[in-house]
Amino acid sequence: MSTESSFSHLLAPLDLGFTTLRNRVLMGSMHTGLEDKKKDFPRLAAYFAERAAGEVGLMVTGGIAPGLRGSLMPSPSGLFSRLQVPRHKLVTSAVHEADGKICMQILHGGRYSYHPLSVAPSAIQSPITPFKPKALSSKGVEKQIQNFVRATRLALESGYDGVEIMGSEGYFINEFTTTHVNKRTDQWGGSTRNRYRIAEEILSRCREVAGKDFIIIYRLSMLDLLPDGNSWDEVVEQAKMAEASGATLLNTGIGWHEARIPTIATMVPRGAFSWVTARMRPEVNIPVITTNRINTPEVAEDILARGDADMVSMARPLLADAEFVKKTRQGRPEEINICIACNQACLDHTFKGKTCSCLVNPRACRETELNYLPTNNIKAMAVVGAGPAGLAFATVAARRGHRVSLFDQSDEIGGQFNMAKKIPGKEEFSASLDYFRGEVERTEVDLQLNTRIAAEDLAGYDEVILATGVYPRKLDLPGIDHDKVVSYIDVLKGRVKIGHRVALIGAGGIGFDVAEFLSNPDEHDMSPDTIEEFASEWGIDISLTARGGVEGIKPQPPKSPREIWLLQRRAGKPGKTLGKTTGWIHRLSLRHRGVHMIGGVNYESIDDQGLHISIDGQRQCLEVDHVVVCAGQVSNRDLAETLEGRGLSVHLIGGAQKASELDAKYAIREGSELAARL
Ligand code: FAD
Ligand code: NAP
Ligand code: SF4
Repeated sequence: MSTESSFSHLLAPLDLGFTTLRNRVLMGSMHTGLEDKKKDFPRLAAYFAERAAGEVGLMVTGGIAPGLRGSLMPSPSGLFSRLQVPRHKLVTSAVHEADGKICMQILHGGRYSYHPLSVAPSAIQSPITPFKPKALSSKGVEKQIQNFVRATRLALESGYDGVEIMGSEGYFINEFTTTHVNKRTDQWGGSTRNRYRIAEEILSRCREVAGKDFIIIYRLSMLDLLPDGNSWDEVVEQAKMAEASGATLLNTGIGWHEARIPTIATMVPRGAFSWVTARMRPEVNIPVITTNRINTPEVAEDILARGDADMVSMARPLLADAEFVKKTRQGRPEEINICIACNQACLDHTFKGKTCSCLVNPRACRETELNYLPTNNIKAMAVVGAGPAGLAFATVAARRGHRVSLFDQSDEIGGQFNMAKKIPGKEEFSASLDYFRGEVERTEVDLQLNTRIAAEDLAGYDEVILATGVYPRKLDLPGIDHDKVVSYIDVLKGRVKIGHRVALIGAGGIGFDVAEFLSNPDEHDMSPDTIEEFASEWGIDISLTARGGVEGIKPQPPKSPREIWLLQRRAGKPGKTLGKTTGWIHRLSLRHRGVHMIGGVNYESIDDQGLHISIDGQRQCLEVDHVVVCAGQVSNRDLAETLEGRGLSVHLIGGAQKASELDAKYAIREGSELAARL
């Protein structure tokens, strides 16, 4: 077990002159969806208060628009009128009562705004939004600057400890600072001096209205990840300008949203971009903050101890566990519920207009409604199945005070997570299993592995919970019993040696994962990629000589040891059902490795020759060594049917309850919600 002193850099206070932060953790800005409506501010206040009580050094709100044109969505989260101050005061008061500090991020969407009133330096539409922005006149530019200043004044009135000016990720200010979309020839375009003028004006005028005892963070795009992004010398010039214009802290921004390089998804190695901040640190005299894929206290401590940065920014890890810092300080870091960087309940929700939460912590953003309170009515409970659903149920119920026995026929906990963690780039899933293993012990759940449960074993319990998961769907196809046909379970559990030519039937989440597994040069090497390997695969220049960190650099993806066909019946390109913020990475990664992804396929038969298919009536044979079936799943209700047949009442959760639309987010949420109720 680690002790308090192991994290001396992370837990050291940071003196900003006029105020001191209690440690080096910044909770980075995340739009939760609770900022959008006045009625949700009490929930937003509770969400931040819990993280302040969890001892985060400094928090930053989700993006708050300085005016209507800068709003990301038509129904905005903004601060541009005094009428909006009282709702923000709810947040700042709650945070201060919990001894926390909070800055408000001022985010102008620019051409990323999702409405027809969007504005930008030049009228160039982004590839990720359907609206062409209007190019601002000089008067229009001045108006936007004034809006930033007004937002700062109102933030001060609302009780915020500071503001973060968002100058990265391809939003409004970043659009001015690079030539990628700034084609202006007036004083706001052309030379770096002109392009940076907008940031300089905003920072210096905000500093003027805020006075000297107010935190101003500037989030600088240190690596645009676009061929015509800024050179490193230009980035440094901008950083020095930000310092001279009154910034208190310099935060790191990595990559525009339209860049086709993963920056935060689970396949990005931990701490993959702190080297960028490390290069910046000696160039300025204000503290610098590093970010992206920092999800454990150990990674954060290493980065700080190495001197890469003065602070670390973590956003999603604090959704996953509000007590991340407190547990670290108290010397129990192994109790932290680790963010696995899946984006499934946070960013994917945000992009669908849904309130954000967390796959591993369904309480995130629901702090006022989902609570695990001690029970007055202690019951004996049997939980069958120690997959994500059963684990979530068992540990929450036991934490509430129930006596819980948890059974699994397997010799390990985790159910399908044990296959997920074998997929290259999904090693983080092991961290969730480590957390659950610890929780089972800490909550004194009576865990019985290698125990297959039959109906007779379940007598005498007050409640029976069936979390028995799923079976792979069996297909009815001529030749389906041929030796070359195997299931994804056979592949991932290493029961078969797969040949050089493979067809996968089904291109859902599991089909894509199996394709990733089989196209990986060494499927047995599960160690995370090094940062150098990751950079080489995606074409990032870690010497920082290429413009934008990528210009002229060719991605060098590893070669697949197999020829793979990934097939689906549905017309169109496979991968449409994958997560909004990660699907494109899976598709691109497989395309880089030459995997054939084909939609609109009719499966005809399987024989010695291979898999016979037809597409648009044209028959062909894929001459493959193996056909792997990844065609979805059906609920395992064997026990449920027997028990219900005997008139007994049981609770079904996770895959046992519903196989369609099942994923771990659903399984963990269901398990946790039921445990909160019983
Ligand atoms: P399961 O995980 O199937 O667990 C059921 C458990 O019940 C098993 O351990 C089984 O041994 C036990 N059991 C069954 N019957 C009995 C019995 N009679 N007695 C004792 N024990 C019994 N989901 C995501 O959200 N994101 C992902 O990225 C993701 N990636 C995946 C990658 C792969 C390769 C796979 C296979 C799945 C992935 N999933 C992912 C899906 C996710 O793992 C499942 O949705 C989730 O595990 C379902 O949880 P569950 O608890 O309902 O069932
Ligand atoms: P899935 O996503 O529902 O995909 C099932 C695939 O099988 C589809 O491509 C479907 O496409 C095909 N299929 C269905 N019935 C078929 C039939 N009778 N014959 C032939 N093909 C058939 O399910 P999954 O891939 O098994 O994944 C299970 C769950 O785990 C999913 O909910 C998924 O979200 C989750 N998961 C998530 C991730 C992630 O990264 N987020 C990764 C892995 C798994 P057609 O019907 O068009 O052929
Ligand atoms: Fe992290 Fe996934 Fe939770 Fe988002 S949903 S905070 S990525 S674990």
